[in-house]
Amino acid sequence: MLNADQMLAIAATRMRDLAAPGLSPRPRRKVAVLACMDTRIDLFPMLGLERGDAHIIRNAGGLVTDDAIRSLSASQRLLGTEEIVVLMHDGCGLHGASEDAFAQALAADGVLPTWRLGAFDDVEATLRHGLARLRSSRELRARDHIRGFVFDPETGAVREVQSVPGSESVPDSA
Ligand SMILES: [Zn+2]
Repeated sequence: MLNADQMLAIAATRMRDLAAPGLSPRPRRKVAVLACMDTRIDLFPMLGLERGDAHIIRNAGGLVTDDAIRSLSASQRLLGTEEIVVLMHDGCGLHGASEDAFAQALAADGVLPTWRLGAFDDVEATLRHGLARLRSSRELRARDHIRGFVFDPETGAVREVQSVPGSESVPDSA
């Protein structure tokens, strides 16, 4: 049985839970989260979110791409969000991947995409770059509250990355 068949069957048994009559499409907490698509990231319990609270935008890496900005622009301008959280993580599939090898594999299949894979070597520097890009994106109406976190799937820790390197607050050791 294909996953898609199973999914459709499961959804059919859960209509009562899935229905959200009257729930506004405008995020209750006025926040949008951009995160990597990694399977280990369970955003709702991690960030204390409930359905209806936030827009969730996910892509490979949690990278600030043109399309992420498109979604965030719609989130703010059409649906009223005012705050952005970007979540990347340790052990990302893009960390240490080869941009060139990926492009060559695509080229071998006759494809020359307009996008880049977005491979990176330094998760914190990449996140800082993404935050800076968001803060200078006039597609966004609200740019005062843009924060970046890195999740470590091995320990479960979530740490904030500040805009200026080296100014990270050190979490209290418990
Ligand atoms: Zn990832």
